[in-house]
Amino acid sequence: MSDTKILIVEDELLIAKGLSRKLKKLGYTVIDIVSSGTKAIQRATEVKPDLILMDIVIKGDIDGIETATQIHEQLGIPVVYLTAYADDQTLDRAETTGSYGYILKPFKDRELHATIKMALKKHQQQADVQQSLLKTQVFSEEKSQLLSMVAHDIRNPLTTIQGSSEILQYYQHKLTEEKQVKHFERIQFAIDNINQMLEDILILGKTGARKLSFEPIPLNALAFCQSILEQFQSTTKQHQLTFCSQKECSQTYLDGKLLSHILANLLSNAIKYSPEGGNIHLEVCGDEQQMIFRVRDQGIGIPPEYQAKLFEQFERADNVGKIPGTGLGLCIVKQAVDLHQGTITMESELGVGTTFTVVLPVLKGDGEMGS
Ligand code: ATP
Ligand code: MG
Repeated sequence: MSDTKILIVEDELLIAKGLSRKLKKLGYTVIDIVSSGTKAIQRATEVKPDLILMDIVIKGDIDGIETATQIHEQLGIPVVYLTAYADDQTLDRAETTGSYGYILKPFKDRELHATIKMALKKHQQQADVQQSLLKTQVFSEEKSQLLSMVAHDIRNPLTTIQGSSEILQYYQHKLTEEKQVKHFERIQFAIDNINQMLEDILILGKTGARKLSFEPIPLNALAFCQSILEQFQSTTKQHQLTFCSQKECSQTYLDGKLLSHILANLLSNAIKYSPEGGNIHLEVCGDEQQMIFRVRDQGIGIPPEYQAKLFEQFERADNVGKIPGTGLGLCIVKQAVDLHQGTITMESELGVGTTFTVVLPVLKGDGEMGS
């Protein structure tokens, strides 16, 4: 009990001293006695007591109830009122300020002890409820973040399936057996990708586990990027997708799921915002400390006045014309980059093209990285 710190706000010194003695006898620590509302707020801010015992009628401009309201709002410290009389009006006022109880003067030990214990308990319960509300809120934000990510990005593998299955349907006889196998593999890969996303949502729904987290694994960035690029190449004939990388990128340590959200959105934008076609270049380089992914297109470019809003939800630049979009892709990219503690920058010139550069630090998990 001695670790419970109490501040007394009472302008009659004799009463305050008597109360202090009783509290010490009961095992509480009295950290100070002050006599006005202003001093009470100042001391409460400085010493952060666990509980304040506050006389309703005190010296100064603000009375005990007003002081308690301010302390409760600003500092969240529970206050128990001390009062010599308790007319209905005063009690009503005290109650509307979220009072934790009151003690009538002269104080009786048992009453004092019981009221303090109840006030501390009530305060603890309120703090627990608030904590669990906060957790629920954070969780539901994470959940909706993951849901919107999947709902948005599931279109990429679906486009691959559509593209490759159409090619197989209409041109199968013209394709070599090797090319046909390639398209079937792309379809399989895209289906696996969709399954993985749906599984993440199901796990989130069933177990409540945090799924939108950063889970780096040893990853061959070279093969990873090449496979994503191939998938996107199968969705367009107008664009030439090229790739360059360093050998060092074959072994790195990143979150593959997040990386695929990043690259898929950047590549789909590069294709979508180059309606005249052209080259789209993906470059990967890096070392043991960081990986750099750069996506360059020769598209419509991004107007300078829009660039500040680039990563905000539902924001689209004026020059997109009839090109469809929801304005969510880059927001998802930014979230994935942030989870990696990375950075994303952009350079663009209207009518010339755009380059997005993502830098991800390679955070090794328990020194597991193989290189
Ligand atoms: P969504 O990705 O949700 O289908 P979107 O492509 O409009 O829709 P974002 O990917 O967030 O949304 O992009 C936001 C905006 O940034 C786009 O509407 C476009 O104005 C601009 N933008 C993004 N990438 C490029 C790019 N490579 N070239 C030109 N403009 C781009
Ligand atoms: Mg987009």
